[in-house]
Amino acid sequence: MSGVVLDGRKINREILDELRPRIEALRSRQRPPTLAVVLVGENPASEIYVRNKVKTCRELGIRSLDATPPARVTTEELWRIVQSFNDDPQVDGILVQSPLPAHIDSQQILTAVDPLKDADGFHPFNVGCLVANRPAPRACTPAGIVEMLKRYRIPMAGKRAVVVGRSDIVGKPMALMLLHENATVTVCHSRTQDLAAECRRAEILVAAMGKPAAITSEHLSPGVVIVDVGMNRLTDEADVERLFAHDPARLASFRKNGTTLIGDVDPSAMREIASAYTPVPGGVGPLTIAMLMANTVRLAEQHLGS
Ligand code: NDP
Repeated sequence: MSGVVLDGRKINREILDELRPRIEALRSRQRPPTLAVVLVGENPASEIYVRNKVKTCRELGIRSLDATPPARVTTEELWRIVQSFNDDPQVDGILVQSPLPAHIDSQQILTAVDPLKDADGFHPFNVGCLVANRPAPRACTPAGIVEMLKRYRIPMAGKRAVVVGRSDIVGKPMALMLLHENATVTVCHSRTQDLAAECRRAEILVAAMGKPAAITSEHLSPGVVIVDVGMNRLTDEADVERLFAHDPARLASFRKNGTTLIGDVDPSAMREIASAYTPVPGGVGPLTIAMLMANTVRLAEQHLGS
């Protein structure tokens, strides 16, 4: 038996379609919502993420501005770029693409973004609002996951939710958002003693470790709902043949491209054991972009007083 596929692309389209009239109202009455994107250096993965975000802005009628300083930019220079967007009344949202080069003080840059223009929801002020469950821009990936679970009518209240990973951008905000939805939340990390036993208790399992197919059948209880946040690139043919033996289309695409994406959960275990799960790709990724757009539109409405 196969579980229900939680289709992130479909939810992405729904969210974007709901944003269109709000964007049109801003454009016709005042000006388009505007997102400033800062991309430092030449990280190919970051370039793809930014390209997708800018493309979605364009499709929706959100204006995007960019700053692309070289990798050798100093923290102070980057700080000034962020300040110039803070000071620009035409800019509603600011996004600084991570990761930043190691010599940059990332905390200083995150804190430099005006909390009222914080499209990613990473500013400590907005993180505090999340802890206190007060309205503010929320981190896009976990916010998108909650939105998807609601739209698929998957109950969270009273459920045992296990989040694997405790990063500031996914694991921690995810745990807090599930808590605010009244789930009973366990957070696991690299020092967790018996990860499989913790995961088997989950009715909702969010895997955000960045370890390809690390969650296997021994971690899963029948009927669990799985959200696989991991985005890992596989290039080893033997690994791909083992993990995608059930998926001839994926094997064919790997043979053509020499690479394929996999999440943190073994795809065949997920398909056979879960009652519902997000595929990789096509699950969590599109939700993250949709919520970035939603954050930007909400910030623009606040700035423009509508
Ligand atoms: P980080 O590397 O910042 O965090 C990984 C977390 O996983 C850490 O808390 C770490 O624990 C934990 N971890 C690592 N190994 C293990 C293990 N063996 N057992 C238990 N816990 C472990 O990653 P991110 O949170 O930034 O991202 C996680 C994944 O999600 C990545 O694959 C990333 O590409 C993907 N991602 C996808 C997005 C999307 O839109 N689809 C958006 C953001 C991320 P510890 O803290 O102890 O080190």
